[in-house]
Amino acid sequence: MSAAEPVLQVRNLTKAYYGLTAVDDVSFDVERGSITSIIGPNGSGKSTTIDCISGFQRANRGQWSLDGKDLTGRTPHAHALAGLCRTFQTVRAYDDLPLIDNLRVARQEHDGLNWWHALRGGARTRAAEAAATERALELLSIVKMAQYAEAPAAILSYGQRKLLAIAAVMMTRPKIVILDEPVAGVNPTMIRGIEEIVREINGAGVTVLFVEHNVEFVMNLSHRVIVLDGGRVLAEGPPDLIHRDQRVLDAYLGAPVDAATDGAGHG
Ligand code: ADP
Ligand code: MG
Repeated sequence: MSAAEPVLQVRNLTKAYYGLTAVDDVSFDVERGSITSIIGPNGSGKSTTIDCISGFQRANRGQWSLDGKDLTGRTPHAHALAGLCRTFQTVRAYDDLPLIDNLRVARQEHDGLNWWHALRGGARTRAAEAAATERALELLSIVKMAQYAEAPAAILSYGQRKLLAIAAVMMTRPKIVILDEPVAGVNPTMIRGIEEIVREINGAGVTVLFVEHNVEFVMNLSHRVIVLDGGRVLAEGPPDLIHRDQRVLDAYLGAPVDAATDGAGHG
C-alpha cells in the first residue's frame, strides 16, 4: 500500500435508535488493498456502522461511497453488486447442502438467478454455473476444505462455518469484504487459519474491513485500526500507535496490550 487511495469513504454517518445515538457523525476512509479493523467497547457502534454501510440498517445522516460510487441508502443487494460484501457474526449456512452448493447458492443469490433461470437453462447460464463451480472449488481449497466439497455443511465445526461464510462472500469477487467478528468463539488453531485466509484474500487484492474483539488478531492483521467509543471515532491509525494511545487504553484496551491477547468480556 503506497498511495493512500480510499476504496471506501464514509462521511458523517449517524444512526439513532429511538433517541439513542448509536453512531454519531462517524467519518473514515478504508484504503484500497488494506486490512482495516474497527474496534471499541461493547455498544460503541461497531455493528451499527457496518450494518449501515452494507445497507442492512438505514442511516439517519451521512454518505458512503465505494470507488466513488455513492451507495447511501441503497439495498444490501445494491451494495453487493457494487462490490461490497459482508459476513455476519451469526454464521448462516444451508446445513443440508454440500459445501460446494452453499457457495454456488451464494453466487446465484448475488446474480439474482433463481429456479426460472435454471429451468430456462441456456448456454449463458451453463457457462456461469461452470465458472461458479470452478470458483467454489478454488475457494474451498483456499480455506482448506476442498476435501469436504460434497459433504453437507452440517458436519462443519463453528470455526469451519466461519471459513465457509468467508468463502461465500468471496464467490462474487468483491472489491471489499466486511467481516463481523470473524474469530469470535473460534478456537486458537482455527483463529490462525482464519488469519491466514484473510491474508490470502487480501494478497489477492481484496480490501478487508473487519470488526473484532480479539486484540491479538486485530493487531497482527490490521494495517489500520479505527477505534470507536460512544458512537464516535476515538482514534485511528496503524496498530502500533493504537496500542500505545492513552485514550484507547483508557476506553478499551485497559491492561497493557501484550497481556491482553483476548478481548473476551468486552462483548
Ligand atoms: P457494538 O457493535 O460496538 O457493540 P452496536 O452498534 O451493536 O455496538 O450498538 C450501539 C448502541 O446501539 C448500543 O447502545 C446498542 O444497545 C444500540 N443498539 C444497537 N442495535 C439496536 C437496535 N436494533 N435497536 C435499538 N438499539 C440498538
Ligand atoms: Mg457488535
